[in-house]
Amino acid sequence: MIEDKNQQRTPLSELGEFKLIEHLTQHFKITQETTIKGIGDDAAIIDIKDKQIVVSTDLLVEGVHFDLSYVPLKHLGYKAMMVNISDICAMNAKATQVTVSIAVSNRFPLEALEELYAGISTASKLYNIDVIGGDTTSSTSGLIISITAIGEVNANDVVLRSGAKPNDLIVVSGDIGGAYMGLQVLEREKEVFKVNPNSQPDLSMYTYIVERQLKPEARKDIVDLLQQLNVKPTSMIDISDGLSSEIIHLCKQSNVGCDLYENKIPLDPQVISTCEEFNIDSTTIALNGGEDYELLMTISQDDFPKIKGNPNLTVVGYITEKDRGMHLVTRGETKIPIIAKGWNALGENIE
Ligand SMILES: [Mg+2]
Repeated sequence: MIEDKNQQRTPLSELGEFKLIEHLTQHFKITQETTIKGIGDDAAIIDIKDKQIVVSTDLLVEGVHFDLSYVPLKHLGYKAMMVNISDICAMNAKATQVTVSIAVSNRFPLEALEELYAGISTASKLYNIDVIGGDTTSSTSGLIISITAIGEVNANDVVLRSGAKPNDLIVVSGDIGGAYMGLQVLEREKEVFKVNPNSQPDLSMYTYIVERQLKPEARKDIVDLLQQLNVKPTSMIDISDGLSSEIIHLCKQSNVGCDLYENKIPLDPQVISTCEEFNIDSTTIALNGGEDYELLMTISQDDFPKIKGNPNLTVVGYITEKDRGMHLVTRGETKIPIIAKGWNALGENIE
């Protein structure tokens, strides 16, 4: 599906590891004042001054987390960055540095890695993050990317998963379910392409959801917005595996229960129409589809007037005492226990 427009194919063996790292990282600029030493020594140096430092790592494996038949390498580099930045945002922190490590088989020429790093570079510029190190090695099969993100936060501003209290409101940023439905569309087009390699996919009806899948954004803007609104969430997590598994994480770590309202879950019209087309229930997708990288948080009811009417933040329910359990209140006002069925990299994908 994705045409290889790079005619030139330079084997990685022509460069060797050190030259390869130098080549791929030559255009990265240091912009953070906390970065004392970036790439080029045995280790990088960061001076965090009076802040706390947050660190998060993610590993992306070809065939498990991404499929290069429809994911352009540039998008993959960008998304790998977002996955990590999103975790830093979920701590109410600001991502400042990353290290990038890749293992790559010899089926990838230098030009392919340049594409991957172009996506990483775009993300680092847009989000103002320094790439300060990493490693490159060979793999016997496929591509593996590991990014470690480092962020800073004032000690008083840190938000954990464990701070939710009964009567707090449950709030979601943006809308959810889009990334999963985008994946369904791309998977379908891949099957069509297998049968007819000359087919050109028409994705014009699905631009929003395909972009949600291929080029998600970490919600740094929401962290900034909350600060502007003077709202410090009582707990927060990013939605990487679906709303149900994330709310379960928050409730378990906070020792509370919850009531989530089906009719409050924010869905884009394109998610609803694509769910109808695929004959899938949109609530199931919102609860169990992953990779939206929105933020799920709880806030004190006192803060409700500050977020009321804000188009970026939707109240979807409230926190209860633990013994009330975790429930979805359906449109028909039936209470259904919430169970984790989210996207799971270890193979228990949703049906
Ligand atoms: Mg997370």
